Amino acid sequence: MRKLPLYKTKGIVLLTKKAKEADKNAVLYTSDYGKMEFCAKGLRKIKSRLGAALEPFTLTEIAFWWGEKLAIIREAKIIHSYSEIKENLDLIETASFLARVVDRLTQANHPDKNIFGLIVSSFLWLSEGVNPLIKPFFSLKLLSLLGLSPQVSQCVCCQKKRQEAVGFSLEKGGLVCSAHNGNYLPISQQAIHILDRLSSLNMATVKRITIAKNLFGEFEMAINSYLTYQMGH
Ligand SMILES: [Zn+2]
Repeated sequence: MRKLPLYKTKGIVLLTKKAKEADKNAVLYTSDYGKMEFCAKGLRKIKSRLGAALEPFTLTEIAFWWGEKLAIIREAKIIHSYSEIKENLDLIETASFLARVVDRLTQANHPDKNIFGLIVSSFLWLSEGVNPLIKPFFSLKLLSLLGLSPQVSQCVCCQKKRQEAVGFSLEKGGLVCSAHNGNYLPISQQAIHILDRLSSLNMATVKRITIAKNLFGEFEMAINSYLTYQMGH
């Protein structure tokens, strides 16, 4: 029998799903191939040697070959287990959110080193503890890397400056001023300011800032609504 060549890459495990018999499929965001679904033979057996390395939210080095339908994992070795995340329900919830957003918004086999880097650094940030800014920051950065950034610096319809904006339109993908009718989420100038700032800051700076609770709720709702809208397409 011809020996199939083995390929190596590293990736973050986003999720796993049951497959036939004792197998499981694992969806990883890999550094070389982007999002990819793999079959892990025998992963549901108690003594599977692949087990820990293919748990969700693990940075893993894998060796695989291309099967007929799915790539098949031969070896998996933990690079970083982010064990702090797995021991805390709030962190698990946030990690699941990040993984779901990546899974829903990225296309399979479209590698992007920046997206891979964003996921790895965000999981590292998350393993330091709960920070309410992780979800919105991650969402805005990922949307930006995918070319889906909302327009938050001016009116998306007539380019009037941000100070004239009264709402956020999911359909049009950004701020709208009072000159336009239609469906939009009302949004305050303060929340707009945060949206605009958060889009332009880097992670190291965002780690150091806090946002007043009442404003946070408003701006988080705008981002989450936009994200849900994008994930529905
Ligand atoms: Zn306008």
